[in-house]
Amino acid sequence: MKLLVVLLAVLAGVWLWQRGRQRHMPPPTRPGPAPALPMVRCARCGTHVPDNEAITGRRGTYCSIAHRRESEGA
Ligand SMILES: [Zn+2]
Repeated sequence: MKLLVVLLAVLAGVWLWQRGRQRHMPPPTRPGPAPALPMVRCARCGTHVPDNEAITGRRGTYCSIAHRRESEGA
């Protein structure tokens, strides 16, 4: 009888442990990490910036409007 009580306690412990683990697991529908963006180099300072954040000028791409203005004067 004592063995049965110990066995039930162990099973209950394992059940509670697995329940707690499932709660901490991320939901399966979570989106993955964003795909890496192509990086472009600033023609003024050489800093690499994501393509969608780069400022395009007549002589190349820049990390900021200020650097485009410094390089192109406009
Ligand atoms: Zn720059």
